[in-house]
Amino acid sequence: MKKDQLLTRRGALIAGAAALGAAGCAGVLASGGGDEPVRPVAPAPAPFPGPQASSVPEPSGYRLQPLTGYAPARAAPHRTRVRHEPFLRVYGRGRTMVLTFDDGPDPRYTPHILDTLAEYDVRAMFFVCGEMAVDNQDLLARMADDGHIVGNHTWTHPLLTQLKRSQIRWEMKRTSDVIENAYGQRPLWFRAPYGAWNRAAFQLGAEMGMEPLAWTVDTLDWTTPGTRTIVDRVEDGAAPGVVVLSHDAGGNRSQSVRALRHYLPDLLDSGYHITVPRRRYA
Ligand SMILES: [Zn+2]
Repeated sequence: MKKDQLLTRRGALIAGAAALGAAGCAGVLASGGGDEPVRPVAPAPAPFPGPQASSVPEPSGYRLQPLTGYAPARAAPHRTRVRHEPFLRVYGRGRTMVLTFDDGPDPRYTPHILDTLAEYDVRAMFFVCGEMAVDNQDLLARMADDGHIVGNHTWTHPLLTQLKRSQIRWEMKRTSDVIENAYGQRPLWFRAPYGAWNRAAFQLGAEMGMEPLAWTVDTLDWTTPGTRTIVDRVEDGAAPGVVVLSHDAGGNRSQSVRALRHYLPDLLDSGYHITVPRRRYA
């Protein structure tokens, strides 16, 4: 029963990738949305891929890649370069933005966020904490079914810069294990709590096949500044490539839930495509 569910979930992930088609997996950090072709980002040493990257691969060449990347289920970690800085932006073609929700899942708020995203047929990223995920695995399953990306935000949300390497490894690996179990796939992205990155975090993340993603616009929603203020921060910060940080856990997040119901339709009306980054499977 459980295995079947997992297979279904994995099937949904594959279907999601197939639906995104070439756009979904065109570049290491190109964002994919709809059927749009995406500007592929060459695997250059520059940490931040920009819109200047060109060279479009043969469509038939990369269309076949995603499916090979999903099997076998417990494939070796993807080879990932060790970075020295996290990505702050994710560029796709046109006016694309990425919405991210951290620290959850929380059954009081996350389902409402998922409902709103579903209402507008939009995909987002959830950087979950292992200690929250382990008790809310059904929500991770729903994220998989709905086509969202789940990233690793450590187990207990510590300040990584104060931990030993072995402790950071424990925080990250254990969280990836829970994500794999509930979501159906190990995470390909991680985010350091408080945005406090260090060398060990970059190295361990790469070792576990994850790319570091920070953010461009911080809503500071955790300070509960009011729904309108959160909406204004997102809309004032809106620009192509922007990654928005909000939270679906860690306190009372009703303002974050309500704000999404306002800024999401506004962004869509303004012509933004809300997308998630896709990594090339090698
Ligand atoms: Zn956090």
